[in-house]
Amino acid sequence: MTSGINRIVIIGAGQAGSSVAAILRSSGYSRAISLIGDEPIPPYQRPPLSKAFLKDEIGVDGLRLRSDSFHSDQKIDFRPGVMAERIDRDARMVRLADGTSEPYDILVIATGSRPRLLPGMGDVPAGVHHLRSIEDAQGLRSAICPGAEIALVGGGYIGLEVAAAAVHLGATAFVLEREERLLPRVANAHVSDFLRHYHQQRGVAIITDAAVAGFEQADGRMAGINLQDGRRYSCSAVLIGVGGVPNDELARDAGLRCDGGIVVDRDGRTDDPRIFAIGDVSRRPLPFNDNRMHRLESVSNAIEQSRQVAASVLSLARPEDEVPWFWSDQFDVKLKSAGLAFDADRRILRGLPGGGNFSVLHLKDERLICIETVNNAADFMAGRRLIASMAAIDVDKAADSAFPLKNLVPMNNDRIARR
Ligand SMILES: Cc1cc2nc3c(=O)[nH]c(=O)nc-3n(C[C@H](O)[C@H](O)[C@H](O)COP(=O)(O)OP(=O)(O)OC[C@H]3O[C@@H](n4cnc5c(N)ncnc54)[C@H](O)[C@@H]3O)c2cc1C
Repeated sequence: MTSGINRIVIIGAGQAGSSVAAILRSSGYSRAISLIGDEPIPPYQRPPLSKAFLKDEIGVDGLRLRSDSFHSDQKIDFRPGVMAERIDRDARMVRLADGTSEPYDILVIATGSRPRLLPGMGDVPAGVHHLRSIEDAQGLRSAICPGAEIALVGGGYIGLEVAAAAVHLGATAFVLEREERLLPRVANAHVSDFLRHYHQQRGVAIITDAAVAGFEQADGRMAGINLQDGRRYSCSAVLIGVGGVPNDELARDAGLRCDGGIVVDRDGRTDDPRIFAIGDVSRRPLPFNDNRMHRLESVSNAIEQSRQVAASVLSLARPEDEVPWFWSDQFDVKLKSAGLAFDADRRILRGLPGGGNFSVLHLKDERLICIETVNNAADFMAGRRLIASMAAIDVDKAADSAFPLKNLVPMNNDRIARR
């Protein structure tokens, strides 16, 4: 598709936008690339915002995705602090908030996601935080000090990571989860139970079946949080971590197909052949889950889709599909998961959660489709490989935690047939 592609415009200078710009260049595309970002600073990593950055272990410089001179060296026209306001598909033009327009032959939308607000919250009260940007993290950090009482609304990864960081910094922390267990949508009950105990042992109170009704202020400051069942907890700051929503408004306004994210194919292409969407904003097929459509929020997904788009635009060989994966650090626990457990018909626990080192395998038709690991890098690596094989495995051996998962050989090689 390269002939006639003289201008590639990327909206969103985050993990995905920055990656696709870099990969296009390293793959040999030498014509114009514009990278439009509404944040005033160069692209940075978000995962440390709830981990090392919040704990003061790294500063802003440690978050950077690229060196200072990267964009000029690579002749990428990086435009920080400018919001893209409209996509004019007929004119093949992106209208920017500074009054200028960027013409494109190929457009990549990489606008990410934003934190979901609590329903009916309206204006965000003083002392209530969300966490997406460096600025958010700095605001949250200033609320965490010895003696502070931090309420985490939402027992997902971000809430739990921030609870661990708050305790590390000498504050007290409690998690309010609406469902009956932690990480209800993304983790198996073994992992939820393990984390509940682990956090409780380190002083984090875990309160489940807790639906927030509202906040109490005193002298213009956060004083407490009320639950719908009448319970009340005092706190000095609140972090809402109840998931994300895609920044797909530009695409919707331009008439692109959206359904909880911009709908793309396995190359990241939207229903307009000149427009791609990648990263948190996109809803994509999952090749290891029968091409089920899903919106992923992870670094590995942003990078994989960047590779797919670069290959498609430059007519290069399509990269191998990658098994999606995710990590989380809480206190000194390393959680890693690969694949997604949709439609799993069998679950296997390897190891003992009480020992702090175990894995949960999710199978479908005797094929491994997802693995969740706690402090178990070896199972994670082996599990990813087995998921990628798309072949049946010996379930009895997989269930034997004395048998190394890395020694498990896929039983047949019908990978291609299943695609
Ligand atoms: C606190 C936190 C912890 C996380 N931890 C992990 C983790 O441990 N592991 C993991 O895999 N993932 C983690 N993630 C998720 C991961 O950071 C995201 O999946 C990844 O950043 C997605 O990249 P993206 O480019 O799609 O979105 P982003 O990185 O959010 O980039 C999108 C960019 O587009 C900009 N933008 C939006 N609209 C416009 C517009 N109209 N014009 C111009 N610019 C625009 C946004 O401001 C933003 O800069 C975490 C995320 C957060 C917030």
